Amino acid sequence: MKVSSKEVWFVTGSQDLYGEDTLRQVAEDAQKMVEGLNQADLPLQIVWTPTVRSSQEIYNVCVEANSNADCVGIITWMHTFSPAKMWIGGLKVLHKPLCHLHTQFNREIPWGEIDMDFMNLNQSAHGDREYGHIVSRMRKATKVVVGYWQDAQVQQKLAVWMRVVNAWDDSRDMKIARFGDNMNNVAVTDGDKVEAELKLGYHVDYYPIGDLVAYVKAVTDEQVKEMLAVYDSTYQVAPNAQEGGKDRVSVVEAARQEVAMRKFFEERNIKAFTTNFDALHEMHQLPGLASQRLMADGYGFGGEGDWKTAALVRTIKVMALGLPGGTSFMEDYTYHMTSGHMAALQAHMLEVCPSVAQNTPRLDVFPLGIGGKADPARLLFDTAPGDGIASTIVDVGNRFRMIVNEVKVIEAKEMPKLPVANAFWIPQPNLEIGAQAWILAGGTHHTSFSKALTTEYIEDYAEIAGIELLYIDKDTTIRNIKQQMRVQ
Ligand code: MN
Repeated sequence: MKVSSKEVWFVTGSQDLYGEDTLRQVAEDAQKMVEGLNQADLPLQIVWTPTVRSSQEIYNVCVEANSNADCVGIITWMHTFSPAKMWIGGLKVLHKPLCHLHTQFNREIPWGEIDMDFMNLNQSAHGDREYGHIVSRMRKATKVVVGYWQDAQVQQKLAVWMRVVNAWDDSRDMKIARFGDNMNNVAVTDGDKVEAELKLGYHVDYYPIGDLVAYVKAVTDEQVKEMLAVYDSTYQVAPNAQEGGKDRVSVVEAARQEVAMRKFFEERNIKAFTTNFDALHEMHQLPGLASQRLMADGYGFGGEGDWKTAALVRTIKVMALGLPGGTSFMEDYTYHMTSGHMAALQAHMLEVCPSVAQNTPRLDVFPLGIGGKADPARLLFDTAPGDGIASTIVDVGNRFRMIVNEVKVIEAKEMPKLPVANAFWIPQPNLEIGAQAWILAGGTHHTSFSKALTTEYIEDYAEIAGIELLYIDKDTTIRNIKQQMRVQ
């Protein structure tokens, strides 16, 4: 199953020196390789392109890749030797993501048969080094995948890259709607929106909440009824939130908000959004349930105007399409500090995505301590134990910095009085070092959390975006995170 209708191109490098027979064989082998990879159920279709043998042909395929809307990246492979000065002109103009597959057509050396003809046909071992040199010298971002093309590990690395380039393509025109500005005085959720559009493709728009209120008012009773029927059949609805219950009115208002937000976003091709509990005016309540359900459908979300996290939640959701695990906006809330078992309770006021839920969410209504509005409806659940990653992008003044922390979700105890969805995790390598490193790196209190992805996706993404990445994992020490920051 493909994650989108987009494709990546497979470009085989060579030169004219070899003569027709060898070049025919090169093209045949490359096509067989592409066919084989396409049968391996990778996330995107791979399209074979004719072998490039000169500066002009290389330049042409790079220009075509740039201008083809379906092509979201190119995979390069040197079956034979392709003198790399020929690649300079093409690579200079190429702005689609690049992957270098360092493999060869045959798996094993044919010991009894090998002769110089075989050696001259199958020379990726040095052809790919020559090509790799110029990519490195030109400081082109690339993912180098090494291994036999039929092996699962190699295909998995390609699959990760494909998911990342598909998400990168999605963010080229990512429109993010901010209802209300960033929360006053908050530093880490703010940032340079112009630079974000230049570097990451984010188009960060502001909409007064009144624009949305007009949509809420236009929602019909029939639309509300249909939405309520979805709620009632999907969730475990608390008695007070059921038809006839004392809090049903809050659920009705939540449904009205959701219908309005969906229409608002669809009309404007909006992919991510932020809200601010301080800027609700005529909104009945903070749209918590709508935010949760929109996230579950692939929209990015950030609380209190946090547009960078909203955008990253969207991007990570696109990377994770169809994978098990779920992805959500999250916030570090409070700690459990028993020596040797320190962990962090994650939640938000309301907006945790049900894609991470370990069981059927409960729909309920409780007061919200801040904002001064009516009691909002929300979905309650716990996050299933397992490995995940928490990622963020911060603006450190003259550049963006991405930070990823591997986390281990564990079981929390029952919290009967806590009316929000949550996750309970140990940042790797442990809370002491994980949190210390995160704080030294200037990381956010909001994160994009995913149980579907690994650090490799974030590494590929930061590489393509050309932004700094600090990773905090089981091997992190404070000394090495400080060293990483010094060399960035
Ligand atoms: Mn928050």
